Amino acid sequence: MRPETPPEILLPATLGEALASLGERAAAPLAGGTWVMRAPLRREPFAPAYVGLSRIPELSLVEVTDDAIAIGAAVTHADLANALAGFPEFAGLRLAAGSSANPAVRSAATVGGNLCTADFAAADLVPALLCLDATVELAGPAGSRLIPLADFLAQRTGLLPGHILTKVVVARTGQRTAHARLPLRKAGDYPVAIVSVAMRVDAMERIGAARIAVGSVEATARRWTGLEDALLGEPLDGARTTGIAGSLLASFNGRDGVEAPGWYRVRVLPALAGRAVASLVAA
Ligand SMILES: Cc1cc2nc3c(=O)[nH]c(=O)nc-3n(C[C@H](O)[C@H](O)[C@H](O)COP(=O)(O)OP(=O)(O)OC[C@H]3O[C@@H](n4cnc5c(N)ncnc54)[C@H](O)[C@@H]3O)c2cc1C
Repeated sequence: MRPETPPEILLPATLGEALASLGERAAAPLAGGTWVMRAPLRREPFAPAYVGLSRIPELSLVEVTDDAIAIGAAVTHADLANALAGFPEFAGLRLAAGSSANPAVRSAATVGGNLCTADFAAADLVPALLCLDATVELAGPAGSRLIPLADFLAQRTGLLPGHILTKVVVARTGQRTAHARLPLRKAGDYPVAIVSVAMRVDAMERIGAARIAVGSVEATARRWTGLEDALLGEPLDGARTTGIAGSLLASFNGRDGVEAPGWYRVRVLPALAGRAVASLVAA
């Protein structure tokens, strides 16, 4: 068999150059490479060329203001976890970034790569950012625009060609947040199911507005709105949450995979939801 020719890798220093290269060469962005490098294992062809994002300074910044946090697309999982230390309201996102995969992957894999890999259902940052109501910035030949993450996820395969996701913006609202994942050794560091939560809690420790997102169960992470509604006014209680969640599984259609069958991914969701809520009690 003829060995595959390695694709060309360009390393522009500015976003403008990167976008121009994408347009000229039918190239794809290259961030941490942790997904791209495994293309042969998935029996997928490499792109004709790749445009590396690591030398574009603004893509590696985490900027915190009183109102929001802006995370550059090329920030790695490890750097994000470090940057969020000292911000208890982002405990869920911090745990997602700091517990994904393994240390070597976390030091390379990026926020942008996690959000842009449409075929990667087990991405930890996607549900963690979905429950925070994040917005993404997409840059392309016609300029930049902000898009709610949920809308981006619904349309990303159509939106991405010729574009670069440049940053993720999350408002600072003082909610309590958590991230619960179930990794299985035979799943090779990938979580078989994830529940991320962001909740307002009143003075009586009762749940107010909640956003709950589920990852790795279906092809794309999504909100668990039935549980959000059912928990309104409930005490912040993990066991009670598990019980309530157990009666709200009918809307999930778990994906079958070599590491876990679809029914199993759905079956573990109530325990993960309970664990996430229980972790908020001590917050
Ligand atoms: C063994 C292993 C286990 C892993 N386990 C987990 C896990 O448990 N949880 C988890 O969250 N992650 C996990 N990952 C990492 C996962 O592969 C990455 O989080 C992510 O999917 C790819 O990020 P990356 O920066 O390496 O992207 P790359 O591999 O560089 O790119 C992935 C795709 O995104 C596109 N892309 C990248 N950045 C941008 C951008 N800014 N704009 C537009 N398109 C872009 C690329 O063109 C490509 O199509 C694991 C990886 C490995 C190898």
